[in-house]
Amino acid sequence: MILEGDKRMKTPEQLAQDVSKRRTFAIISHPDAGKTTITEQMLLFGGVVREAGTVKAKKSGNFAKSDWMEIEKKRGISVTSSVMQFDYQGKRINILDTPGHEDFSEDTYRTLMAVDSAVMVIDGAKGIEPQTKKLFQICKMRGIPIFTFINKFDRDAREPLDLLSELEDVLKIETYPMNWPIGMGRGLQGLYDRYNHRVVLTHPSDPANPYIPLDDEGQIPADHPLREDSIWQDTLDEVELLEAAGNDFDEHKVETGDMTPVFFGSALTNFGVQTFLETYLKYAPAPSEHKTTDDEVIKPLNPAFSGFIFKIQANMNPNHRDRIAFVRICSGEFDRGMDVTLQRTGKAVRLSNSTQFMADTREVVDTAVAGDIIGLYDTGNFQIGDSIYNGKQNIEFEKLPQFTPELFVHVAAKNVMKQKSFHKGIDQLVQEGAVQLYQNYTTGDYVLGAVGQLQFEVFQFRMQNEYNSEVVMEPLGHKIARWIDPEQLDEKMASSRNILVKDRQGAPLFLFENRFAENWFKGKYPDVKLTAKL
Ligand code: GDP
Repeated sequence: MILEGDKRMKTPEQLAQDVSKRRTFAIISHPDAGKTTITEQMLLFGGVVREAGTVKAKKSGNFAKSDWMEIEKKRGISVTSSVMQFDYQGKRINILDTPGHEDFSEDTYRTLMAVDSAVMVIDGAKGIEPQTKKLFQICKMRGIPIFTFINKFDRDAREPLDLLSELEDVLKIETYPMNWPIGMGRGLQGLYDRYNHRVVLTHPSDPANPYIPLDDEGQIPADHPLREDSIWQDTLDEVELLEAAGNDFDEHKVETGDMTPVFFGSALTNFGVQTFLETYLKYAPAPSEHKTTDDEVIKPLNPAFSGFIFKIQANMNPNHRDRIAFVRICSGEFDRGMDVTLQRTGKAVRLSNSTQFMADTREVVDTAVAGDIIGLYDTGNFQIGDSIYNGKQNIEFEKLPQFTPELFVHVAAKNVMKQKSFHKGIDQLVQEGAVQLYQNYTTGDYVLGAVGQLQFEVFQFRMQNEYNSEVVMEPLGHKIARWIDPEQLDEKMASSRNILVKDRQGAPLFLFENRFAENWFKGKYPDVKLTAKL
C-alpha cells in the first residue's frame, strides 16, 4: 500500500492484478428467454444467493428490502438496470441487467456502453426475437465479444442447425458451437462438449462425475450404453458436419465480435450453465480501454481515476428523493471520499456517498477499480454521459450515442398557469436523458420520444412528484423517426402520416406512421435523403 495523504492507494502491481480479474458484462435477451434464470444460476455458483428464486422474488413484487420508487412497486418490476457483483474462480464478475418488456428504455441501450462483453440468451424454441436483435446490434456496433447461450433444451426446441443458420443470417455473425445437444426435450441425453472434448450427461450414473472424456475419434467408450442409442449416431453425424462445413474457432474474431461461441443448455435445470460460465470466463475480456473526445486512449491501468456516467436512476428511495448516478470506472482506483473533477463544469466534486449492488442488497463501497460499476448518490450534479476524473489530465470520454426513439406522445401541462414548473421539469428530465424532446415544426407543440412505454410513465410520475407539474399525454404510437437535410425540406412534405418535428438542436425530422408511409415518401421524393440515428 502507498499512503497518499490519509488515503491508502494500491500499488501499480496491486491495481494491475485487481483490474485483470474484472469481467464486466450484460446479458441480453428477449423477455422470457431465461435471463433471470441464468443470472440466478451464476449467482448461485458465486455463492451470492443461496436459493433459486431470490432474484425472481424482486420481479414478482414480494421483495421485502425493496425501497424502489412507487411505480416500480406497483408493477413489480425494476425500472432501470441494476448491477450484480460476485466472485468466481478468481474473477470478479459484474453483471449489468438490461431490463426488457415495458421497462425497455434508452437506459437499457446505454448499459451496453458500460460493459466489455455480452451474453446473449436465446429461447431454443423461438430463436431470435425482436429485443435480442436490437440489443445485439448495439453490441455489434461496439465490437465487443458476444457469447450465445441457446436455452430451454430440456423442452422441445428448434433444430440446432436451424438455430445456427438463423444467427448467421439474421444477425450477420459467424457462429462456433462450443457444444452440441444430444437430443432435446425429454429425449435430451446430454451435451457433446466440443471445446472440452467430453460428453456431459443429463442423468449420469455417477452424479459426482458427470463427464465422459472423448477419445481421439470423438467417441465415447465402446461399452457405454449411449453408443447403442441412435441419438448418439445422429449427434456424431451432426458434429462431423460442423467439423467439415462449419467455421473454425477463431479467437481474434471472438474478440472483435465477429464470431459468437454458441452453447446449448437449460438454465432452469442448470444443465450446461457452469461449463458455459467457465468457458466464457476464459475468453471474456478484462476491462477495455476507452477513447476520449481528443481521440486519446485511456487505459484501465492509467493510475488516475476516471469514469463516465451511463445511467441516472432517480427516486430509488422516495423518502430521500435520492438519485443515483451509475459510473463505469475506466481507469485507476476509486476511493470513497476522493475528490474528482466533473469535466462538464470543471468543478470539484467529493465522492463520499457511494454504493454497490448485490442481488438483494446495496452496500457502501470503499474502493473499486477499472471495470467496476459504482453508484453515487447525487444531488443534481451529474448528467448522463458526464466524465469524472481525478488526475491533472482533462478527460472527456466519447459521447454516448443517442438512440432513435420508437414511441411518441404529445405532452402538455394540465394547468396552463403552471407553465414554469412544466418547462423546468421537462428541461431537466430531457437533459438527464429520461426521454427525448421534439417540437412540432408548425404548432410548436411538445412531442416526447422514447424507446419504451415505461419511460413516459416514469416521466409523468417524476413531473408530478419532483416538479409539481401535472402533465397530459396523448399517445401517438409507434413511429419511425428519420432526419432530413434542412436544405431539402419543404414543409408541405408533412402530413398526418409523416409528422414534421424538430429535435432539441433544431434539426428537422419526420415521424413516419409506418414503413409503408416511409416508402411512399421515398417514392414521392426520390432525391430526399432520410437518415436514422441508431
Ligand atoms: P427473462 O424474462 O429472460 O428473465 O426469463 P426468466 O428467467 O424469467 O424465464 C422465463 C420463463 O422461462 C420462466 O417461467 C422460467 O422458469 C422459464 N425458463 C427459463 N429457463 C428455462 C429452461 O432452461 N427451460 C425451461 N423449460 N424453462 C425455462
